[in-house]
Amino acid sequence: MNNVRVRFAPSPTGPLHIGGVRTALYNYLFAKKLNGTFVLRIEDTDQTRYVANAEQYIKDSLNWLGIAPNETINKNEKFGPYRQSERKDIYKKYIQKLIDSGNAYYAFDTTEALDSERKNHEEKGKTFIYNWHNREKGRLVNSLVLSADEVKKRIENGEKYVIRFKSPQDEKLEMNDIIRGKITIDTNILDDKILFKSDGMPTYHLANIVDDHLMEISHVIRGEEWLPSMALHVLLYRAFGWEAPEFAHLPLILKPTGKGKLSKRDGDKLGFPVFPLAYTNEKTNEVSRGYKEDGYFPETVLNFLAFLGWNPGTEQELFSLEELVETFDLKRVHKSGARFDPDKTKWYQQHYLQQKNNEELAELFLPLLKEKMNDDTNNIELPYVIKTINLIKERATFVSDFWELSKFLFVTPTEYDSKAVKKKWKEDTNALMTQLTEVIVKIEEFTATNIETNVKEWITTNELGFGKIMPPFRIALVGAMSGPDLFKISELIGKEETLKRLKKAIETL
Ligand code: GLU
Repeated sequence: MNNVRVRFAPSPTGPLHIGGVRTALYNYLFAKKLNGTFVLRIEDTDQTRYVANAEQYIKDSLNWLGIAPNETINKNEKFGPYRQSERKDIYKKYIQKLIDSGNAYYAFDTTEALDSERKNHEEKGKTFIYNWHNREKGRLVNSLVLSADEVKKRIENGEKYVIRFKSPQDEKLEMNDIIRGKITIDTNILDDKILFKSDGMPTYHLANIVDDHLMEISHVIRGEEWLPSMALHVLLYRAFGWEAPEFAHLPLILKPTGKGKLSKRDGDKLGFPVFPLAYTNEKTNEVSRGYKEDGYFPETVLNFLAFLGWNPGTEQELFSLEELVETFDLKRVHKSGARFDPDKTKWYQQHYLQQKNNEELAELFLPLLKEKMNDDTNNIELPYVIKTINLIKERATFVSDFWELSKFLFVTPTEYDSKAVKKKWKEDTNALMTQLTEVIVKIEEFTATNIETNVKEWITTNELGFGKIMPPFRIALVGAMSGPDLFKISELIGKEETLKRLKKAIETL
C-alpha cells in the first residue's frame, strides 16, 4: 500500500508568492514520483489576515501550472473539510486532550502585563520568554499556579485567555530534516507558544499538527521560514502520542543580488513578476503583475521554479513536468538560499517559445494582431500568420514580441528609419532601385530562391556591388535595416507588394 501523502497548506492572505508556488511544485513532484497523494489545505485560522479572493487565486495558479491537487475542497474529499475555519470543533477537542494530559495550560495574562514584563527584561538587557523559567514563579497568571476553581471561575466569567503549550525543560531534542539532516534543539530556549484562544480559534501550530495527523500526512515539505517551528511541532506530536511525519524545509528564494528574501518590491524595481497570475488587491485595487499575463508559458515557470533550490546533478537544464517528476529528489534540494535570476527565466521562456509549433503561436498571436491592425473582421489569414511566425520566431521571447518583429509583413512601411536612409540611400540609389523593379517584374515563380538567384545574378553581371543594392532594398521593404532574410520577406509579401514598396520608396526618398 502506498502511503505517501503530502500537503500544500497556504494561508489565504493575498496572492501566492512564487516561493509558495515552488513549495506546491516540490510537493506535487514528490507525491507524483512516489505515486502518492497531493493535498491542498487552506489554513485560514487567522481571520485578521484573511482575504476573500485569495483561495480562488491559489487554485487558479495551481491549475494554470498543471499541478492541481488530487485531494482538496470538492475533490476526492476523504479527510475534509479542507478549510481550517470549518474544523473548529475538531481543534477544540484536541486542545482539551492536551490540557487533560498536562501538556497545555490556560494563561490569563493581559497584553499590558506581558508588555511590561518584556520591557522590564529589556531594561536589564534580557529577553522575556514565557516558559519553564517564569511560568510558575507567580508573576504570570496561568492554570499552573491558580487553583482549578479559580481557573474555572475566570473562564465562566468570560475572562480572556489563551492556551499555551507547556514546553519541556532541560531536554536536547533531536530531530531530522530530509534536506538539512540532524538538528538538535535545547528545549530550554523554546517559549510556551499559544495554541488556542478564547475566541475559539486555534493558532497555526495546533491546527497544522492536528490536520497533518488526521489527514495522514507522511511528509511535510515547506519553506525554511517554518524551520524554527519544527521543534514545537515535533513536541506536539509527542504530546498527542502521534507519530510525526518526516520534515523537509526548502531553502529561501533570494533577491537577484543574493541578499535577503525575494519580495514584490524587487520585482517592481527590476521589472519582473513575483506572482504566477496578476492579482488585484480587493481593498486598494492595486494590481500586481503575474507571469501568465506577462506572457510566460506555464512550462517556463515550472522549469525555472524547479531549479530554484534543486538541481538534477547533471548538465540538463530543460525539463518538462513529466521529466521533473521522474528526476526530482528531495535529497538534491539545497540547504542554502536560491538566488532568483530574471534573465534565466527569460532564457527558459525563449526556449519554450521556440519549442511551440507555429500553428499554436499563430493562434496566440491573432488577438494582438487584430488589435494592432484595427481589424475586427476575420480577414487575417491564419496560414499567412503561420508563415510570418516561422520567419521571425527565433528572435522572439514572448508572443507579444511578434508584432514589432513582423509588422512589415502585414503593413506597408509608412516611414523609413532616417539614420539608415542617410547612410544607405545614395544619389544613384533611386536609379538602381528602378532597375531592380525591372528585374523583379520579370520573375515568374515568386519564391525566395528564385528572387535571390535573379537579383544576385543581376548584381554580379552588372558589377553593382551588394552593398549598393541590398541595404536600400531592405529599407524599401522593411522601413529599416532590421528583419529576417530579405528574399523570404519578399516572397511572403508577394511580387505586387514588393514592387509597390520599391516604388513608394523611390518616390519618397
Ligand atoms: N499556513 C502555513 C503557510 O502559510 C503553512 C506552513 C506549513 O506548511 O506548515 O505557509
